[in-house]
Amino acid sequence: MTLLIRNPLAITSDGKVSRVNVFVEDERIQFISQDTPPFGSKRGEVIEGEGKLLLPGLINAHIHTEETLWMNMIPDTVPHIPWFNEYTLPYYHSLTEEDAYWSTLLSHALMLLCGVTCCADSANLWPDADAKAVSRSGIRFYVGIWASDLSGTLSKDTAKCLEDVEKHLKKYSGRGRLRGMASVIGSNTCSDELYFEAARLAARYDTPITSHESSGHEDVIQSLKRTGERPIEHLVKIGFLTRRTIISHATDITSSEVNSLKATGAGVALCPATELKKGKGLHAYGRLTEIVRLGVRYCAATDNANSSNSLNPMRAAGLLALLVKDLSLDPSIFTARDALRSITEYPADLLGLNAGRLEVGSLADLALYDASNAYLSLGDPVQGMVYCDPPRVVDVVVNGELVVSGGGLTRLNMEEILREARSRAESIARRMGVLG
Ligand SMILES: [Zn+2]
Repeated sequence: MTLLIRNPLAITSDGKVSRVNVFVEDERIQFISQDTPPFGSKRGEVIEGEGKLLLPGLINAHIHTEETLWMNMIPDTVPHIPWFNEYTLPYYHSLTEEDAYWSTLLSHALMLLCGVTCCADSANLWPDADAKAVSRSGIRFYVGIWASDLSGTLSKDTAKCLEDVEKHLKKYSGRGRLRGMASVIGSNTCSDELYFEAARLAARYDTPITSHESSGHEDVIQSLKRTGERPIEHLVKIGFLTRRTIISHATDITSSEVNSLKATGAGVALCPATELKKGKGLHAYGRLTEIVRLGVRYCAATDNANSSNSLNPMRAAGLLALLVKDLSLDPSIFTARDALRSITEYPADLLGLNAGRLEVGSLADLALYDASNAYLSLGDPVQGMVYCDPPRVVDVVVNGELVVSGGGLTRLNMEEILREARSRAESIARRMGVLG
């Protein structure tokens, strides 16, 4: 099976915009050049690139697909800690495996229609439902299983958490589109033993490991009470931070903790829409400028759709760019091209995935946008992508396969998914007592 993308405008990894031809075979980019590819005799799919802008597929490296059914349901006046204890935990208790499947499938559909080709979810309860959803949607999906042993009603004892994580990694250890990864919930819900042993499992099974940390000021206060240390300080001490580690949020951190992230090579998944919506105080407690200036490994992500009301990482990248410019009082510190890298090559690097770049040898995960509108046809299309209204996706390729074509999903029926999603969301709300 081959695929030729003929003559689109492309944003290449050096940030330049030029017309290219791209040839894909065996799931990888085999040729990318302004010249005509020397594979004319091979028969296969052809995408005409005229009027389109080609990007590497977007990567959303911190989401919770099982929460998408719950989008727009929680009042936007609820702060971070009650959000989790009073809404998120009861929601998960009400969720069935079939609900999880439809929620994940809806997430995949929404993301494919934004040009997302890979996403990473750190805390799912029903990984078999995720596997089923991936086999239908075709998206590339990293999944961690829920692991917490200290507090929260979904906590289990440490040995059971570790047994579940290992079983999960064994079961989904392949290199296909669904990839198991190690994860702990973090944010004061995990013992040192769970952190340490889960990190050992990540090394043994060669996967990333994720944890939520310093998600807000209250997390830091709880950590100081519990351990006498701030969250990142404590994780450095117990040896949790390595180049495999992806810390989600890192909203309230100190300069010294930024230095620790840099020194250990750990990455951060920044979720600007969630932090802004919940009023977590990036201006007061955050260190976005230092994270960028010091060269800490980072990416932009949406977080769950009930926090950010969006699964489009382009929106997260645009918000991150605006925030960093404002907080640093320096518009030159973070450009639209940096924003694009924060949802393509940077998360690919954090996940250890050979994607996120328009380069020969990269996985053929690609997105083409309609470039005929005012936003992408006037001036610099990179600024158009990042700062203007979200562009319309026309074609999306995952692993060399066309999963969105002409603006429509090739494998999924959105009407069917939405019908199921609405009825299941209502039923969950009734079970939780939120609806009458
Ligand atoms: Zn999260």
